[in-house]
Amino acid sequence: MGTAERLQRLRHALAECEETDNLLIASAENRRYMSGFTGSAGALLITPDEQYIIVDSRYTQQAADQSPEFSRVDVTENLRETLGEFLCDLDPGAVGFEAGHTTYEEYSKMREEIAAVEWVPTEGIVEDLRQVKEAAEIQTIRAAAEIADASFQEILPSVAPGRVEEDIALDFEFCMRRRGAEGLAFPLIIASGVRSSMPHGQASGKEIEEGDFITFDYGSRRGGYCSDATRTVVVGEVDERQSEVYCVVQRAQRAAVEAIEPGKTGAEIDRVARDIIDDAGYGEYFGHGLGHGVGLAVHERPSLSRRRGTTPLEPGMVVTVEPGIYIPDWGGVRIEDLVVVTEDGSETLTGVDKELVVIDA
Ligand code: ZN
Ligand code: ZN
Repeated sequence: MGTAERLQRLRHALAECEETDNLLIASAENRRYMSGFTGSAGALLITPDEQYIIVDSRYTQQAADQSPEFSRVDVTENLRETLGEFLCDLDPGAVGFEAGHTTYEEYSKMREEIAAVEWVPTEGIVEDLRQVKEAAEIQTIRAAAEIADASFQEILPSVAPGRVEEDIALDFEFCMRRRGAEGLAFPLIIASGVRSSMPHGQASGKEIEEGDFITFDYGSRRGGYCSDATRTVVVGEVDERQSEVYCVVQRAQRAAVEAIEPGKTGAEIDRVARDIIDDAGYGEYFGHGLGHGVGLAVHERPSLSRRRGTTPLEPGMVVTVEPGIYIPDWGGVRIEDLVVVTEDGSETLTGVDKELVVIDA
C-alpha cells in the first residue's frame, strides 16, 4: 500500500468528520506516515482534492524526493507566515489541526495570525489509520525486533556481578547499531536488584550483584519503525520467591498472548493476564496496562489496558503483551513480547526464549 491509498483512507476518515474535511499535519510520525517525508520540520495540508507539503529550504530537495505525490509550498520567512498566506488564498473555511501534538502557544498564534481560518481540534485521525499495519510495515518491525533480540543474546553472556548497568547498556546499543539499527526505539531499561521494582528503571550506575533480578527492556529502530521486548534474568541462585513471581508473570504473559484474536478488545486481553496475577495474590503489584501498539512510535494505538483498551483488535495490529509484578524494596519481573494480530490469533515477532535465564555468579 502506498501513499495514494493512505491518502484515500485519510480523506475517507475526514469525510466522516462533521466540522472539516481539511487537515493540517505537523507531527513527525503522522507526517512521515502520510507522505514518506522524514525531515525534522514541515507540515502537510490535506484537502479533499489536493495535498501539500510545506517545507523550508533545508528540505526542498528531500521533500521533492520523498513526497512526489505532494505539491510543495516553500517557506519564505517562517512556516506559520507562509501557511497563513497560502491558506488565505486557498480559503478553505475550516481546517483541522492535531490537538494532541499542538502546544497551547502554537494554537494561540495560529488563531491570532491565521484568523481567516476556523481552526478545528481533531484527535487521533492519522493515529487510527496507523493502528493496522501493512505487510511491509510488519516486515520492518520484524526486522527491528530481530536485531534487538540477536543483540540481547549477544550481550547476555557478558552480564556478570560487578558490571555496571550503564556499561552493559552501552554495549547493547552498540551491538544493535552494528547489526543495522538506526538507533534505539527508547532509552534502554536495565534495572537490577531492588531497581527492578521500577517498571521504567533506565540503566544507572549500579553494579550487578549476586541474587539480582535484572530487567532488560529493549527495542531498536529501523526504517523509522520501533521494536519493543522485555526479558528478566536472575544472577546466581534463584530463591523460592523469585521463582514463584517469575512463574506467575510467565503464565500471565502466555495466557494473554494465546487469548489475542480479532474482535476482542485490549481490555479483555488485559483481564486475562490480570486475573492470573490477581489469583496468585500479586494484583496490587501490577500497576500498568498490559500493552500498547508499536509502529513509527514505540507507544501508539491501540491500548491493551483496562480503561483505554476499548478498540476491538484487527488483523495487522502490532501490540505488546507485557505483564509485570513489581514489589517495592525487593524487585520485579516483566516479560514482554511484540505480536501481530492475525486472522485467527496472533504471531509473535520477538523470539527470545521465556524460561528464566540464570546467569552464573
Ligand atoms: Zn518495553
Ligand atoms: Zn512496551
